[in-house]
Amino acid sequence: MKLDKPGQSALLKLSEVDIDIERIKNEISKAVNSAELTAKSAQLSEFSGEVIVARTNFENLNMESRKADDNLHMVEDRLARDLGRLNSTSSPKDAQAIQSEVESLTLRKEELEEVELEILDRLEAAKQELDAISLKRERTAKEIEELREKIQVQVDELKGQGRKLVADREILVAKIPAEVLEKYKFLAAKQVAVGKVESRSCTACHMGLTANTIDSIAGLPEDEVGNCPECLAMIVR
Ligand SMILES: [Zn+2]
Repeated sequence: MKLDKPGQSALLKLSEVDIDIERIKNEISKAVNSAELTAKSAQLSEFSGEVIVARTNFENLNMESRKADDNLHMVEDRLARDLGRLNSTSSPKDAQAIQSEVESLTLRKEELEEVELEILDRLEAAKQELDAISLKRERTAKEIEELREKIQVQVDELKGQGRKLVADREILVAKIPAEVLEKYKFLAAKQVAVGKVESRSCTACHMGLTANTIDSIAGLPEDEVGNCPECLAMIVR
């Protein structure tokens, strides 16, 4: 296949540019589908679930604590009323009845105080757990935000490189005849399409070439493109 020297170097460069464009596409797709981001997002939804459980637990205990407090106040009020009545009654029989109620109310009050303390302990622990898991969730959300920004910067940078390569490509393509481009496209769809002979190997497939092949490529006219017998790539000089 005929191709002048400038065409040959454009062809080789085109092959390199296309390989770079492909690499950039892969890097963009890898950055966008970041495994780290996927893992962190999964972690975030796990923490969000844990926050809901911890908050529900905390709110339930809060309600229980208010109920216990109400119960205690009711008993304290009755106790205060009874003590008032005890001071003002002149009937020994009434006084005895009130005294016995005061004793049972005092016992009840002690029980309720214990219950309230125990609930307050659990409430305190639930609050600590809620705070801890909320903090974890917040940190992970922040990390995700930072990671997204980092990925965006990477992708923008890669897209910039890609745009430059696409512009370079246009210039190179204009230097190559349609017939050669056709063959190039056919080859490039499945392999490295263009190579040179370097260190007795084809740079497209890195296979060693026989002395016969090297001689016959070297013996081609300057404006003739050779072929690698191993990978079929077009060989330029
Ligand atoms: Zn080859």
